[in-house]
Amino acid sequence: MMQTKHNWTKEEILAIYNKPMMELLYDAATVHRANHNPNQVQVSTLLSIKTGGCPEDCGYCPQAARYHTDIEGNDLMSVSQVKAQALRAKSSGSSRVCMGAAWRNVKDGPEFDSVLEMVRTINKLDMEVCCTLGMITENQAMRLAEAGLYAYNHNLDTSEDYYKDVISTRAFKDRLDTIENVRKTNVTVCSGGIIGMGEAIEDRAGMLVALASLSPQPESTPINALVPVEGTPMEEIAPVSIWEMIRMVATTRIVLPNTQVRLSAGRTQMSQEGQAMCFFAGANSIFAGDKLLTTPNPDVHEDMKLFELLGLQPMKPFVKKDQPQSVEAQYSKYKDQAEKPKWTRPDHKIERNELAKAKAKL
Ligand code: SF4
Repeated sequence: MMQTKHNWTKEEILAIYNKPMMELLYDAATVHRANHNPNQVQVSTLLSIKTGGCPEDCGYCPQAARYHTDIEGNDLMSVSQVKAQALRAKSSGSSRVCMGAAWRNVKDGPEFDSVLEMVRTINKLDMEVCCTLGMITENQAMRLAEAGLYAYNHNLDTSEDYYKDVISTRAFKDRLDTIENVRKTNVTVCSGGIIGMGEAIEDRAGMLVALASLSPQPESTPINALVPVEGTPMEEIAPVSIWEMIRMVATTRIVLPNTQVRLSAGRTQMSQEGQAMCFFAGANSIFAGDKLLTTPNPDVHEDMKLFELLGLQPMKPFVKKDQPQSVEAQYSKYKDQAEKPKWTRPDHKIERNELAKAKAKL
């Protein structure tokens, strides 16, 4: 394993990002091979356990209640529905299930208790369990850990500077605080972001500076390409080119040498050759399944065909870290504290978010 550098500067990262492509690919592939098996790719399934109706204003997200999109919302799924989906995912080669709920933050109560039961249920299927539920307190992180959670996802999304142009309902610092709460447990951290939201290359580097400075660095980092959805403030932004995606994946691999770098949203727009170059540049994780929360994703059979073509194998679960034990609810040390944490609400005006909201009202 390579020693991890945490004090990357934006300039150093930009110098990597802007290298001639062949040099960048060679350097990234070298780091990748030194730290990972280049023929193994982790396959995760993303399950939207509660869709739509979110009170936040993330400019890229069709699940924000304030924008008018075609998303069909649903209430929290039942534990048995989740179990059935997890079994399906396992039979098609996934080693991890990531459950996403369109919440601003976790609230103690019956819905969270139900999510904890989902975590126990999936962990008992010998799959890695990840959750993305919004902001969480230390006690909530402890309860998830006790239930057997393997990873918690909370993306930084972009650089601290550009974050203010994307979201006004919570601050960048809230994101870091949630990650810190997760770090107080043995749950691993999954955190990454989105490119193609109109940010500058400097912002991509800025996001990597922030991710690299976390100690330890996230165990998993999704790199998403914006999928512009009609009705959202970013509906008219042109998609990023595959070359930008390859550069971002390669740079992420160099800056976060031990992390699983995940190709996430935007994969439907990539050719097989484009995806292969991303794997060569250090991506070693994908989301499988025909939907990524609400946006389209390649069919799992297509993915397996691509794996066969490239000689890639899906990674087994718990390769990087042992399976956690699930503590049953009645033996839990950490109880529902009916917490009502005050997360920040900067509420500054973001013009395109305001416009999309006004359009939705009409
Ligand atoms: S990204 Fe998450 S927090 Fe933001 S609006 Fe969508 S569901 Fe809500």
